[in-house]
Amino acid sequence: MSSDIDSLLRGAKAYELAKRAIDAMEAHRVWPTAVNFELWLHYVSSKDSEVTQQIASVIESGEQFTEHMGEELAAKHLPSGKLSGELIDAGKSLTEELDSVSRAIESARETSEAYGQQLATASESLQGEDAEAVRVMVETLSQATRRVRDENSALENQLAETTDELGKLREHLEQVRREAMTDGLTNLANRKAFDEALEAACQGPVTLAIVDIDHFKSFNDTWGHQTGDQVIRYVASVIGRIAEAGQRFAARYGGEEFAVIFPGEAPGVALQALEQAREEISSRILKRRSTNEDLGAITISGGIAEKQPGETPVMLLERADEALYASKNAGRNRNTLAGLDEASKAKPRAA
Ligand code: C2E
Repeated sequence: MSSDIDSLLRGAKAYELAKRAIDAMEAHRVWPTAVNFELWLHYVSSKDSEVTQQIASVIESGEQFTEHMGEELAAKHLPSGKLSGELIDAGKSLTEELDSVSRAIESARETSEAYGQQLATASESLQGEDAEAVRVMVETLSQATRRVRDENSALENQLAETTDELGKLREHLEQVRREAMTDGLTNLANRKAFDEALEAACQGPVTLAIVDIDHFKSFNDTWGHQTGDQVIRYVASVIGRIAEAGQRFAARYGGEEFAVIFPGEAPGVALQALEQAREEISSRILKRRSTNEDLGAITISGGIAEKQPGETPVMLLERADEALYASKNAGRNRNTLAGLDEASKAKPRAA
């Protein structure tokens, strides 16, 4: 959902949508927090999303859209909100688990203390006592020993349960983190994961490739969104295969745009991988699932840039993008290696 908003906000209608969202918020006296802004962007940009329907029903009921409502909606429907909600829940479970372990440790400590006191009393009273007194003493001590042993084994069980719970919690958080980093349509990494991976890869030598599906908009207009989504999935599956080797990292970068990071690899190697993908894609005739009609072949264009000394991720992206545009301008269905001269005039790409 948020990747749609991301692409809307990088599209031609960005200012108009942002303005409409602010106007609508002002009209309904909604406080302009970042969360509310994201929610109201959904409201003005998509007719039938859950968020839009929920906001519309609050407006219809004449109720004030409160900050609390905004937070609840965001936690439920925006991926980042969901993540922080999950983290808060996980934090609470963790605190509860730790509390119960420390209660058990405290109780075991009290029992051990009582045991120690009993031992001390016993050794005092043993001096000069007869056999019967010794027997009573031994009986008292063995009862106390059993109590300590039972407490300890309860504590062990509790620790085992807690370790188990913490393991499940860690798995769950890992899954939530993976979901927050994955594009739902293609299962490739999403833009957020890509930004982080590129930042990390730029610590060393790296080649970056950007790939875009040619004439995707007109394809979408002709065959509809559903078929358009299938084409995106198809290209994603081919691009994803490039990244199966080595440390490579493939992501859906935007609507019909993909990126592959090649850490420590030369541009020639990236070009070869992209050429293979391009040939594979352009030689396949896709079918429309619902009618079995031929959709024809689709093509992709790519731009490849190798990181230069001192270049930031943004500058590298900008050069790969310029190489992609060179491919488009030269007639599409091709890959272009970025020249070095663009490095000096690279300007930051809009975030
Ligand atoms: P999907 O439909 O979930 O298919 C996943 C994979 O199952 C495909 O990966 C392919 O290996 C296999 N598969 C599914 N249906 C068929 C089939 O009818 N014949 C054959 N030979 N294999 C099949 P692949 O090819 O990488 O495609 C990935 C995704 O790209 C597909 O996911 C689908 O969403 C889309 N796609 C691929 N080809 C077409 C196509 O001709 N038409 C449409 N509408 N979508 C396609």
